[in-house]
Amino acid sequence: MGKFYSQEWIDEVRMNNDIVDVVSEYLTLTPSGRGFVALCPFHNEKTPSFSVSPEKQIFHCFGCGVGGNVISFIMKMENMDFLEAVELLAEKAGIAIPQTEQDKDYAKKREKTKAIYQVNREAALYYYNNLLTKEGERFLDYIANRGIAINTVKSFGLGCALNRWDGLKNFLLKKGYPIELLCDAGLVVKSSKGKDFYDRFRNRIIFPIINTRNQVVAFGGRSIGDTLPKYINSPETVVYSKGYHLYGLNRFRGRAHISDLIVVEGYMDVLALYQGGFKNVVASLGTALTKHQARLIKRYAKQAFIAYDGDAAGKSATIRGLELLEKEGCKPKVVSLPEDTDPDDIIRQYGPQGFQNLLNEALSLTDFKLSIAKSGVDMDTQEGKAAYAIKASEILAGLDNAIERDIYIKKVSKETGISYHAILSEIQQKKGSSTGKIIKRNTNGNNRHNKILTRKNEEIADVTKAERTVLCLLCQNQDLIEKTVNSLEWKDFSHPLNRQLAKLIYKRIEAEQSIQPADVISGLAEQDNAALIADILEPPVDMTKRTIILEECIRVIKMHNIKRKKEKLQEELEKIVQQGLEDHDRFRELTLEIDKLNKQLKLSGGEQDLKGGIR
Ligand SMILES: [Zn+2]
Repeated sequence: MGKFYSQEWIDEVRMNNDIVDVVSEYLTLTPSGRGFVALCPFHNEKTPSFSVSPEKQIFHCFGCGVGGNVISFIMKMENMDFLEAVELLAEKAGIAIPQTEQDKDYAKKREKTKAIYQVNREAALYYYNNLLTKEGERFLDYIANRGIAINTVKSFGLGCALNRWDGLKNFLLKKGYPIELLCDAGLVVKSSKGKDFYDRFRNRIIFPIINTRNQVVAFGGRSIGDTLPKYINSPETVVYSKGYHLYGLNRFRGRAHISDLIVVEGYMDVLALYQGGFKNVVASLGTALTKHQARLIKRYAKQAFIAYDGDAAGKSATIRGLELLEKEGCKPKVVSLPEDTDPDDIIRQYGPQGFQNLLNEALSLTDFKLSIAKSGVDMDTQEGKAAYAIKASEILAGLDNAIERDIYIKKVSKETGISYHAILSEIQQKKGSSTGKIIKRNTNGNNRHNKILTRKNEEIADVTKAERTVLCLLCQNQDLIEKTVNSLEWKDFSHPLNRQLAKLIYKRIEAEQSIQPADVISGLAEQDNAALIADILEPPVDMTKRTIILEECIRVIKMHNIKRKKEKLQEELEKIVQQGLEDHDRFRELTLEIDKLNKQLKLSGGEQDLKGGIR
């Protein structure tokens, strides 16, 4: 996404849109304390945990953790990208959108985008109306024979392209749309000789693909006879890229989080399940879920049931898609369908209850991977069991959660008769080799190793918290700026996000710009982090003790940095020792340096007063 507007202009837009005014257009705000509260539109709740601060010009939900400034609010609420949200706010505030040279291209592109959405909508209506004509009857019959009721047809805006070459073309030309636009929208195709134009979709049932802003982005067409291919789709256009949309997702627009979403492969699967009473269903239109689709799913649902054709589900592309989904924080469950069977078949053969039974038996991603590993070996032989255990170890090595891993190790151990420890050590080898290090330790060693790791993780959590508290205090108390800046550099912050934020805040301090939370958030390049940043800048801190808290946090951060520095030096020292002390000068230097750090650690750990201690 190129940047088209200056930061000054964006700031002007933001400052002319009071967050309370904007939010209250969407939600009912109730005064509370120094701000307002409301029921959160982004998660389901009965008591309000969504708060708006007029002072800081930010919003934050204590229930689901979303937060940000007025621009982030519009982005979330309207499902818009950053520029779209800024433009909407500019219009609201009556601020003219700048027209520089660079903007002209962008404006042109936006005009075209708008025109394509419009012509697509006309086309969808045309296809729908076709269904109601005499010629359209056989399509309607076909749909009815598949068990799809007329209400479902209407809900999804189905239609049909009649058996002719210029039906849609003539309809749209007569309405005054230029032929180039019809081509750009992918509705009409230029003949190979380049003189003639004809309809892309002919003699097919038409499925409009609608985005979450209720715009028609593309079409799918299914033949009802023997015509091949069975399905054709719109080509990629200015408004449509493959892998960016989910068929049927538009029906969830403006809904709070739904608990689970069924993801299927094709249009007919969506219709069949919907008809069978499974309303929370979308199609990925392909088996390999993309990152964009995974994000869309995550945005709307906590859990996703993947119900793909039996033979497609096991393919590695499918599994990669599921892993993406898990990475996005949405737990996938895999519905096992028999080979060459899709959800549509299940509903037709066994009815809704048949599909419900499959949903109930859906497997977690790990269980699913294990079942694939098992299907390739003969579990009746010792060799088969061993081969399975090795494959399973590889799968389990990918699990980050220790508790989850423990459960699965026990399970695999039980299935194969191979001991828990043998599987664990196999997993650790796999883990080690995948990160480039091989951990060779006996089980006692492992325990010790794990304890050290746990302690380290706890320390990192403490430091991260201390860093966040410092940033939070800094942005809300002018009187602490000097002390903070004199004690810490932005480079002293170790958590990546904290460091990014610290760098930004320090830069703003240097440029004598405001470091109020809302101003800081709008200065971020990565708007995705806005919620997290708002979170960081607004934890409850006891302001009456702010100086003491600040000092303690600075101490924790400094200690951590000294320790890290010491670890690095010690590593270097060990290397020199291993090489037989060849570099004797460096060895001496290092021991002196480490000694110095040890003294500093003792000082800052032992007494609270830092003066004369570290710097
Ligand atoms: Zn919420």
